[in-house]
Amino acid sequence: MATLVRVRMAPSPTGPFHVGSVRTALFNYLFARGRGGTFVLRIEDTDQARNTAASLWSTLAGLRWLGLEWDEGPSIRGLSDEDLQPLPNESYNDYLTRLNLSAGSGEHGPYFQSQRLSLYSNAIEELLDKGAAYHCYCSPEELKTRREELEARKGDSRYDGRCRDLTPEREQVLREEGRRPAVRFRMPKEGVTAWDDLVRGQTEFQNSELEDLVLQKSDGFPTYNFAVVIDDALMEITHVLRGEDGISNTPKQILLYQALGKPVPVFAHVPLLLGKDRSKLSKRHGATALLDFRDKGFLPEAMVNALSLLGWSPGEGAEGEVLSMEALVQRFQPEAINKSGAIFDYEKLEWMNGEYLRKLDLDELVELCLPFLATAGCITLPLSSEQRHRARQAVSLAQERMKSLSDVVQQTNFFFSPTDQLSYEDKARDKWLSNQESLKVLADLRDRLASLSSFDHNSLESVVRGLSEEMGVSASKVIHPTRAALSGRTWGPGLFELMELLGRERCLERLDRACAGI
Ligand code: GLU
Repeated sequence: MATLVRVRMAPSPTGPFHVGSVRTALFNYLFARGRGGTFVLRIEDTDQARNTAASLWSTLAGLRWLGLEWDEGPSIRGLSDEDLQPLPNESYNDYLTRLNLSAGSGEHGPYFQSQRLSLYSNAIEELLDKGAAYHCYCSPEELKTRREELEARKGDSRYDGRCRDLTPEREQVLREEGRRPAVRFRMPKEGVTAWDDLVRGQTEFQNSELEDLVLQKSDGFPTYNFAVVIDDALMEITHVLRGEDGISNTPKQILLYQALGKPVPVFAHVPLLLGKDRSKLSKRHGATALLDFRDKGFLPEAMVNALSLLGWSPGEGAEGEVLSMEALVQRFQPEAINKSGAIFDYEKLEWMNGEYLRKLDLDELVELCLPFLATAGCITLPLSSEQRHRARQAVSLAQERMKSLSDVVQQTNFFFSPTDQLSYEDKARDKWLSNQESLKVLADLRDRLASLSSFDHNSLESVVRGLSEEMGVSASKVIHPTRAALSGRTWGPGLFELMELLGRERCLERLDRACAGI
């Protein structure tokens, strides 16, 4: 019988949900869905000082926004997006309690490491009993001094194993000195630890390179490497797909599984996301927090699609790169993840988002654009049906050119501004609205538009073309100044659509204003 696939995502709530982690979460999700498996969300929150409510929220809200629903983990069902937001200055623990997040759903809970401390302590006892771990009484200060001395001598600065074989009597003395011990893993000193990584293939580390890892600190809190193994083992995780930055931890973790007599999961280490300069993706390359992309008007479907293609390709038979979640689920294979780092290409993401925006039904797009227009002050919600109709027209003009929802503002704001508040780009003003020739064209056009019987695309086009012929100038000498006068800019949707949409009254007002000199 095939093993049931159980994968997990294990974020630490110590910073905003980064696109690199999102991509790893997505790969886990696609893998689980494609194999009829289970996707677990576990929160690694043992670093009490660094946990923040905003970080946890950004992960939960981000996964929900992308549609990456987890099967087991913190329970947010029944909470709206608004409910999920932390209160201003809310502490991490207050946030958990207020929303009862730690109740969790699934049979392997709790799903917050901070609530699993007794499980770690039990495992510590087991390892100590087996002799696979030992108490270490060295204080952090002593360890630091020794490390510095060794470094100064350019020696091996790893823990020297001085507490590895203490006699019970010596331990007693150290305890009586008031020392609170940490617990360290007794690493084998010889041999190799190897695994067949789904992405990197056969990978191995010499055990002699590993130091006796701290499993539990003297304050009783587990370390990452220990807690992750206990949790992955107890949660019956079969495949660990995670960022390559954790790879040096993997041999230590494998040795721990072995010491505990637990099955070792399959590992897949996903290469990191890079900026265009091939350095690790960071804020200096641009936005990296998932929700910033949402706030700029990227669609979740486009984010999922674009992130999935970073370092993975759908292989033969996929038509193009625009793939639905369903298609991704069907095609995803961790073995096809590229071994080298993937460049996070903002332009490609915008292109992808534009593709998705153009595919949207106009009314759906309008709904998504309204909050952006309202925030920019172009409209005030709620809209009357007349205003909604006009917003719909404006959005229809922009749909072809938008790369994100926020583009709607720049693309259409001229359409909403009252004539006396219309702003003009320098180029529009200097090139097209500051010379007599253009102003003469505009004055003439104004009169023709005033008496035009039907103000539609075709009639407008013949007026403009007729005018250019009669004045003996090229059509562009009419079109450019008119666009500049009506929209304040040198670019935008087709002029005749734009005029039709603005309507006669506003076209005349704007031509008058331009002719009066701006
Ligand atoms: N909490 C770890 C992190 O956020 C998880 C790493 C892992 O998946 O094992 O990096």
